[in-house]
Amino acid sequence: MKKIILFGVLLLSLFLVVSSCKDKVKTEKSSELIKQGVLEVPDSAVLINTVLSADEQARLTPDAVLEILQKGNKEFTEDNLTVRNNLQRVREAALSQYPKAAIVSCLDSRVPVEDVFHRGIGDIFVARVAGNIINEDILGSLEFACKVSGAKLIVVLGHEHCGAVKSAIDDVKLGNITAMLSKIRPAVAAAAKNYDGDKTSDNPKFVEAVCSQNVDHAINEIRSKSSILKEMEDKGEIKIVGGVYHMETGKVDFL
Ligand SMILES: [Zn+2]
Repeated sequence: MKKIILFGVLLLSLFLVVSSCKDKVKTEKSSELIKQGVLEVPDSAVLINTVLSADEQARLTPDAVLEILQKGNKEFTEDNLTVRNNLQRVREAALSQYPKAAIVSCLDSRVPVEDVFHRGIGDIFVARVAGNIINEDILGSLEFACKVSGAKLIVVLGHEHCGAVKSAIDDVKLGNITAMLSKIRPAVAAAAKNYDGDKTSDNPKFVEAVCSQNVDHAINEIRSKSSILKEMEDKGEIKIVGGVYHMETGKVDFL
């Protein structure tokens, strides 16, 4: 009798393992077909999100927004993105917006910011500029995002293997790129001070050190050149944080 029960348990375990493998393959195949536009997604599988309202935005704290972005990034790295009711959200957000955060990101095509944090229409402001540098226009944009539109969190998002950072290390001079790279040069100098070893763009460790330093430098620039944002941060109305996006994993490490 015991042998029969044991055999039954073994058979059931084998069935569960095989069916979970099948499900995984099926899910991977389905998401690939959805991506290719071959498979239509049933309405029931679409995530119904409403665009954030003014009240909902007002109730959020900077820490809560940071948690939402961290959770969204985890979902992105697990390839757990959802199909959204985008057209409905486009219409809802047509006349107003109450985004929860403002992200300053590099121009790099390999860093799809909304996807990286699993956010949709009306969720986040994104300012993109090569090397995620800070200038007057970016500061004005951030002041608009936080002071006028109520965003609770600023994230300066650097990334691995950044071409702008490498060009600043190499002291590239070309057209308007020269002036742009001059805003990354202070980070190169600061990183070089504390770095023993090869200080060229051929050394990924040094590039990484400059990238982090560049994020810190951008945050300092925001605090020192925008009295509006500095005051909001001092009052606890917003938080300003840095992060680095990892190319191979899609993970954002908040600094
Ligand atoms: Zn970059």
